[in-house]
Amino acid sequence: MNVLVINAGSSSLKYQLLNTETGEVFAKGNCERIGIDGSFIGHEENGVKGKLEVDMPDHKTAISHVFEILKTVDQPIEGIGHRVVQGGWYFPESAVVTDETLGWVREVAPLAPLHNYAEADVIEICRDMFPELGNVIVPDTAFHYNMPEQAWRYAIPRDIVDKYHVRKYGAHGTSHRFIWRTVHEMMGDKTHKLVSCHLGSGASLCAIEDGQCMDTTMGLTPLDGLIMGTRCGTVDPATVFYLNRVANMSIDDIDTMMNKKSGLLAVSGKSSDSRDIEEGMNNGDENCKMAMEMFYYRTSQLFCEMAASMEGVDTMAYTAGIGENSVTMRAGVAKRLEWMGVKIDPELNKIRSDEPRVISTPDSKITVLVVPTNEELMIALDVEALLGK
Ligand code: AMP
Repeated sequence: MNVLVINAGSSSLKYQLLNTETGEVFAKGNCERIGIDGSFIGHEENGVKGKLEVDMPDHKTAISHVFEILKTVDQPIEGIGHRVVQGGWYFPESAVVTDETLGWVREVAPLAPLHNYAEADVIEICRDMFPELGNVIVPDTAFHYNMPEQAWRYAIPRDIVDKYHVRKYGAHGTSHRFIWRTVHEMMGDKTHKLVSCHLGSGASLCAIEDGQCMDTTMGLTPLDGLIMGTRCGTVDPATVFYLNRVANMSIDDIDTMMNKKSGLLAVSGKSSDSRDIEEGMNNGDENCKMAMEMFYYRTSQLFCEMAASMEGVDTMAYTAGIGENSVTMRAGVAKRLEWMGVKIDPELNKIRSDEPRVISTPDSKITVLVVPTNEELMIALDVEALLGK
């Protein structure tokens, strides 16, 4: 089945047309600066990249352009899959778009206002423009929906939890689900308790026992948990009250500071990109060294938290930009976990490949893998499962 996967943001729209049986990607691209001067589409087809400068005052125009461009691919589009950041309290799994499911995406939007409203608009536009095509909602939170109550519940009053739906929703669920699927295919019965380590500009860990999410490090929003490119991860929640009262910072100021000006960027004082920070460390920059050390420290700590939620761990998988590419970060995190039986082979760790692979030594108690993630394929497979071939 040929599926168009759409990942809409407030001013951008990423797309990929792929086939579910072969995994072949026919074309992909990104509409950028939608509604802003200087909008353009970066498009890639057959390995050739191009940039089209087109007017995109709104998402509807962007989608029209995407469909126009995709005509050159000469492959029929048989279904559309929409990545939705927040599925809230409605989506334990992906769902076909109906008036009701689309309404749910809007209803939970206050939990992810920068994403869900734009995503709902795009879903509606696709449904109206191409009524003959089926549309599917793939929420990034769905995989975490059924984690045990002790994992999702916060120890705050029940009436607040119930009225405002305050709980752990997690994120990167589509990636973690793909990682479980791939690891399970490779390891079979040897893997029961996996910690999936999605380390990119956003980063989260997920404890997965026999395919079921047991806990994850992101919370009500993707701000919680690990240190990320520009996000602080877990800090004492009282930091917010303190800064609001004492530093005279507004809630919006603190929101921006914690989401956009913190994390690796803040500690290194240099960049949010792990490549720049590693280079800085190698050149003797102490702040970059501390940023790297803190990343290893927090990742290894939360790895143990995930292991504790399953009362054990037999497999660890690195994925996403840092997890798939940074030999140094992988080694740094693994070193802090040697005491619990993680032993990676330095030579295997250095190998660069697009294939999933084992990088631990044969005597490592915990098998360590690097698994390139493929959220688009996972989304497309959900579309196929729900709409039929
Ligand atoms: P993602 O959000 O999964 O696209 O990951 C983006 C992050 O991955 C970047 O900010 C970099 O820190 C990191 N990254 C990407 N490529 C490399 C690489 N070749 N080596 C080290 N880190 C990388």
